[in-house]
Amino acid sequence: MLPQRFAFLSPSPPPALLSPVVTMSLDPAADLPFYYGSVSRAEAERHLKLAGMADGLFLLRRCLRSLGGYVLSAVWSLQFHHYPVEKRLDGTYCLSGGRPHCGPAELCEFYGRDPDGLAGALRKPCRRSPDAAVRAGVFDSLRDNMLREYVKQTWNLEGEAMEQAIISQAPQLEKLIATTAHEKMPWYHGRVARQEAVRRLHSGAQPDGKFLVRDRQESGSFALSMVYGKTVYHYQILLDKSGKHSMPEGTKFDTIWQLVEYLKMKADGLVTHLGEACVNGKAAAKTPSLPGPRRTNGYTAPPQERELLPMDCDGFNPYHNPSEGRRFHIQRSRLLIDEVELGSGNFGCVKKGVLMTESGQIDVAVKVLKNDNETLVREEMLREAEIMHQLSNPFIVRMLGLCHAESLMLVMEMAAAGPLNKYLSSNKDTVTVENIMGLMHQVSMGMKYLEEKNFVHRDLAARNVLLVKKQFAKISDFGLSKALGVDDNYYKARTAGKWPLKWYAPECINFHKFSSKSDVWSFGVTLWEAFTYGGKPYKKMKGPEVMRFIEGGSRMERPAACPETTYGVMRECWTYKHDERPDFRTVEEAMRSHYYSMSSRAEPEGAGESPQ
Ligand code: AMP
Repeated sequence: MLPQRFAFLSPSPPPALLSPVVTMSLDPAADLPFYYGSVSRAEAERHLKLAGMADGLFLLRRCLRSLGGYVLSAVWSLQFHHYPVEKRLDGTYCLSGGRPHCGPAELCEFYGRDPDGLAGALRKPCRRSPDAAVRAGVFDSLRDNMLREYVKQTWNLEGEAMEQAIISQAPQLEKLIATTAHEKMPWYHGRVARQEAVRRLHSGAQPDGKFLVRDRQESGSFALSMVYGKTVYHYQILLDKSGKHSMPEGTKFDTIWQLVEYLKMKADGLVTHLGEACVNGKAAAKTPSLPGPRRTNGYTAPPQERELLPMDCDGFNPYHNPSEGRRFHIQRSRLLIDEVELGSGNFGCVKKGVLMTESGQIDVAVKVLKNDNETLVREEMLREAEIMHQLSNPFIVRMLGLCHAESLMLVMEMAAAGPLNKYLSSNKDTVTVENIMGLMHQVSMGMKYLEEKNFVHRDLAARNVLLVKKQFAKISDFGLSKALGVDDNYYKARTAGKWPLKWYAPECINFHKFSSKSDVWSFGVTLWEAFTYGGKPYKKMKGPEVMRFIEGGSRMERPAACPETTYGVMRECWTYKHDERPDFRTVEEAMRSHYYSMSSRAEPEGAGESPQ
């Protein structure tokens, strides 16, 4: 039987690509005969040269800058090509803009069959010589544990909330933990003076390249001390404004440990490249420093120097105290209502407020029913409350309860930055495409949750995506939403109502059928709105014209700010037949992949690992 991790491969994978010996390893590429581990680009090219430079000759190596990723190095027409392979948090791997694969072996196997954007197909593995071991990476074994530990300690999250935090913020979290990983390294000596560094380097053997890294007394930057010809040389490691480390005029890295790894392979201005670590006896036992917990009412305030993440806000974690249960009815005396109106609708208006709970005060939005006597509107609001009460996800506005007092009031968590379309149109200059991608990935996570719970939203649009802040989105307005029966996959409306036709899939308009797949169509329109910074879809057209436009096979064009790959998702969402349209599980996966690769592409600079 095939071992678990190759079980999904065809019964006879090309023998050239897969090692017959499969041992357990944390690195899924460890057993591949063409995998070299953490070797430099120059070394990779040397191996390919030695192996003859045939067309399609390839090897795989660890990416030295992107965490958990690889680089595929290959030759076509006597030219070297290097393609970064990104590791995504769901455990899949992909080339930038390419499709995801279960592992590095499967990825290479795929590109052996289909070049799919590479300069050619992979033909011949450049095998490691049997006596050469895979060069080990530094961060791999630490990464996953550190990530979970970090999220737990910093935001006090566990279980599902922790998973949601990690999935939605992986690129930022990896950066955060990567910046503390050096504290686990044997060569890191913390705050020691120059003389003490010399003393430590001179104790025991003093081979050329023996080194240590220490904190500099001022400025949060580091110094490197190394031995060469029994003399100790000291180098200042530069720290630029964006937090990147480098040797003077050298390649810049996000983290100290990545720079050290690089300097082991390339001198980059030093007297020689780094060799053996001068071991700090205390390092191994240390836990990397994590921001100290400064809890205020259920969350931890972030360190000042970094950007706020969604987990820093009220509203990421459920509010209720598990022992207390989520209250449905709220006493009027616990609620302070401000005169400030946040918005309005047919039902009445939404006001700002504060809810007193046992664990502190919470900012809330209060939907106040205009006319309590209008039974229809009242029933609608009660139905909305009934739906919201069953949902709890960081990317969905939570209902905190209903208050029956001077009016019927629905109390929700506050999303203070307001509707996405308005926010984007008035902040065009400061919101980046990556920011939009992160927000829309969050919306896809919220919608995936609804799909799993068998709810249809029926009014997904940028106006109903509210922002807690610039990097944190929540789906709101469940006024039209329905819970589907266990065996149903759609809801059939008896009569058409006041419907947002421009956001509706053909089957909604033609057959009054609503499903998660029709929400997927609306997600496509919402994506379009987001990437046009709050533009109006099908600008001048009226509802019936839009229907003819869609029936005739036309679709809205790619917004200028929208990457091609994400426009691909939009077009998939607008697949005419609902049974051929992707579900939210697929849409979220695609959004995640685009978001991660966009965030990790934005990071590296200067070390030349991009495709050429
Ligand atoms: P709705 O009818 O639910 O779409 O609410 C109307 C308007 O009230 C929205 O467009 C928002 O501007 C505002 N609003 C609704 N819910 C909230 C909330 N939870 N936090 C902040 N503003 C809200």
